[in-house]
Amino acid sequence: MKRVSVLGSTGSIGLQALDVARMHKLDIQALAAHSSCKKLEEQAREFSPRQVCIYDEKYYKELKTSLADTDIRVLSGMSGLCEISADKETDIVLNSVVGMVGLLPTLTAIDNGKDVALANKETLVAGGNLVMTAAAEKGVSIYPVDSEHSAIYQCLQGNSMNKISKIILTASGGPFFGKTKEDLKNVTVKEALNHPNWSMGNKITIDSSTLMNKGLEFIEAKWLFDLEPDQIEVVVHRQSVLHSAVEFEDFSVIGQMGVPDMRIPIQYALLYPYRTQCPTRPMSLTEYGTLTFEKPDLETFDCLAQCIEAVKKGGAYPCIVNAANEVAVGAFLEGKISFLRIGELVREASEHFPYTEPASYDDVLSVDTAVREFVKKSIN
Ligand code: MN
Repeated sequence: MKRVSVLGSTGSIGLQALDVARMHKLDIQALAAHSSCKKLEEQAREFSPRQVCIYDEKYYKELKTSLADTDIRVLSGMSGLCEISADKETDIVLNSVVGMVGLLPTLTAIDNGKDVALANKETLVAGGNLVMTAAAEKGVSIYPVDSEHSAIYQCLQGNSMNKISKIILTASGGPFFGKTKEDLKNVTVKEALNHPNWSMGNKITIDSSTLMNKGLEFIEAKWLFDLEPDQIEVVVHRQSVLHSAVEFEDFSVIGQMGVPDMRIPIQYALLYPYRTQCPTRPMSLTEYGTLTFEKPDLETFDCLAQCIEAVKKGGAYPCIVNAANEVAVGAFLEGKISFLRIGELVREASEHFPYTEPASYDDVLSVDTAVREFVKKSIN
């Protein structure tokens, strides 16, 4: 039985990972949350990890006091996340924290020879080169948790000798599929948060509505599967049943299907290579009846176009579009900017910064910081 630590245990992926852990009685070594102190305490009492970490230091005392009657070690901040990632008694770290905060814990886990079940997008978007190089050096596995990358990973099983001609990365199209820029001028936060198929956290739901999420997944796929940008085709598939597919050199296409429930890819990452019962439901193709596939509208959904361009330009550009988007989405959620402004800010940042090639975590971080400052200035 693998010993598992979960970073981001109170978020959407974390909660579903704990459903899997509950069903399979996984050995949970550590849990970490951003600031949901009460929820983390509850989880700690249920799963009895050796360590817990609250990222926001403000809540450290509260958590420490609330768990005083247990022998669970309480940590906080980035140092706490990294301590958990380096822990000797952990085999696999599920990293499902949101944002750039996730990069250093991933690198720390890899450095310490831990396999990583990866749900944190920024890890590969901002630090793809660093992360994949380190993982290869240390011989650790990165198991993708995201449904699309998990699908591709699953399609590749038994095919290590075979050449991929391309991958088909499916996108639900989000709540604004079929709309024009004109239609999207006055979109509210509530409308953008209303995703048709998946239930996810706020940041990723907005990213799905702009198709930035697909753009970030495009960048991740490049790194995870070592592909050229023209080997990745984004296809809008409204039903989210085909989670992605791989076309091999013989033009045979292998896809992975299932109901849109993240517990399937989470469990695959945690229990790899075993397939066993999962706390979800079976899929009925006849219930769906029709599956549709369409080209994405790159003009209306500028964020996706920006990400593809960033991969082609290389260097720090994926990190730049990601950082710009994170600040812009935060401002949109706070009601400070309009929906369409998100894409504009991403483009402005991408056009402003010159080409650089980050060679270390500090390099990535300094690009990230500079971009955030640039975008914040544009907003205020
Ligand atoms: Mn996804």
